[in-house]
Amino acid sequence: MHAIKSLVIVGGGTAGWMAAAFFAKRFTGCAMTITLVESTEIGTIGVGEATVPSMKMFLADLGIDEREFIQNTQATCKLGIDFNGWWQQDTAFFHPFAMFGAKIAHIPFHHYWAYLRAQGQAGPIDDYSLPAQMARANKFALPKDEALDIARFNYAYHFDAGSFANYLSRFAQTLGVKHIEARVTHVLKNADTGNISTLILNNGKEIEGDFFIDCSGFRALLIEENLHTGYQDWSHWLPCDRALALPCAHQGYIPPYTRALACTAGWQWRIPLQHRHGNGYVYSSHYISDDQALAELTQHMHAKPTADPRVIRFTTGMRNKCWNKNVFALGLSSGFLEPLESTSIYMVQTALATLFTYFPTTADNIALSTKVNKILAEHNEKLRDFIILHYHLNQRIGMDFWDACRAAPLPDSLSNRIEEFRATGNIRFNDLDFFQISSWLAMFSGFQLLPQYQHPKILHTNKTLIIQELQQMRNAIQRVVRELPEHHQFIAKNASL
Ligand code: FAD
Repeated sequence: MHAIKSLVIVGGGTAGWMAAAFFAKRFTGCAMTITLVESTEIGTIGVGEATVPSMKMFLADLGIDEREFIQNTQATCKLGIDFNGWWQQDTAFFHPFAMFGAKIAHIPFHHYWAYLRAQGQAGPIDDYSLPAQMARANKFALPKDEALDIARFNYAYHFDAGSFANYLSRFAQTLGVKHIEARVTHVLKNADTGNISTLILNNGKEIEGDFFIDCSGFRALLIEENLHTGYQDWSHWLPCDRALALPCAHQGYIPPYTRALACTAGWQWRIPLQHRHGNGYVYSSHYISDDQALAELTQHMHAKPTADPRVIRFTTGMRNKCWNKNVFALGLSSGFLEPLESTSIYMVQTALATLFTYFPTTADNIALSTKVNKILAEHNEKLRDFIILHYHLNQRIGMDFWDACRAAPLPDSLSNRIEEFRATGNIRFNDLDFFQISSWLAMFSGFQLLPQYQHPKILHTNKTLIIQELQQMRNAIQRVVRELPEHHQFIAKNASL
């Protein structure tokens, strides 16, 4: 078996071009050819516009300048997600990319907060989060490295998926990636190993490869249509199976956050870009028709659509193996979790980093593929649990979809976490958890779930001092927010609005 020298990527959506740029950079100076084949006739999914902070690391790793990225992708900044109507109708909470407060005398801040909150002597936890308050005030500035605890936060971006893929395409091609515009019509396998050997294109040409990255989207051309890898269906936990996407003009309103609005049978996103808002409704077709979903979506939009509505069907879940034989599935071909916490592009990034760490020298390496599949499955399951939590804790009583979500059984991993928080106030995580304490806390507090336990140290502390400490924190945050520029001013300075 010969060493891997040629990498072939099928698909030129976000996943395909992220893979091309990433591997071109990582294999610079190596005898590795990278070819990407895509069919513009088939096109890309074209949504996927909100990210999490690790996107900054992806760009930095490639050496891409933030300002250039903002200018080329219609990007805006994202401090977190505003969850509207999730606990009960007409309630809201914010999931920021930041810690809530620092430890006070060795005890995490949230224990003090929960103690006072249970007695009605503290505000919602958002009051103690700088990014949540910045978001509410539509303010944005870059975090400062030397900032005080309360001023530490992280941020991500919203961007136009098509512009991002085009930008990365130019970047990857300058690093030597070969781009072929054609449709793959047939796939040939090696009769002995079952590995994919050759792609036949609609222009009659053939592409041979040692290792293939399947970025063909929901179709999963190599990993499923040809290798029949199988899929774990998670719809019993996450029943939404459709999305309706409908962009509109924004009339100058560019908030620095994504809005997730709970609706009749799912939820609606609003993602602000420089030139438009992305909107969409993720719903369960069991509870609402496409026409009803469209009517509800447009009712919540305050500007004219800039394109026709598009219905996207999906089955939530993940491929049995991301890596099977000499094919690695990336992006939508590897599985799908609804975009409630903008985790798909993050998973593309994680999968790329994991594959590079365990990159095979020859096409078949069961030890490496087993390891990679296990790591990625665990990552996905942890993200899945966090998304399920949003539905499970709802109190939208009397609405069929939401009643069913509340009543559905949970994965053990999630019920254990909820019980641990309820009983001890603690949130444990390891390095495979993307969502850590602040994120789980934002959810628990947003859904009014407080721990039943108080650490004795808190009970022995003078309550007036704790109240003062929290008050000072809240005041300090308000002072910082007042001084910051508006988000649209920040974007105008960094882009060409
Ligand atoms: P696609 O964009 O579908 O690209 C598939 C590529 O394969 C295309 O280039 C196509 O031409 C090519 N192809 C297919 N068949 C062939 C063939 N036979 N020959 C040649 N080429 C072929 N993610 C986030 O992180 N944040 C979000 O906010 C977010 N929102 C989303 C909202 C919705 C409704 C959906 C469905 C997804 C969302 N995602 C989001 C996920 C995100 O869109 C995807 O993870 C990301 O775009 C990657 O898509 P992809 O590249 O795998 O597939």
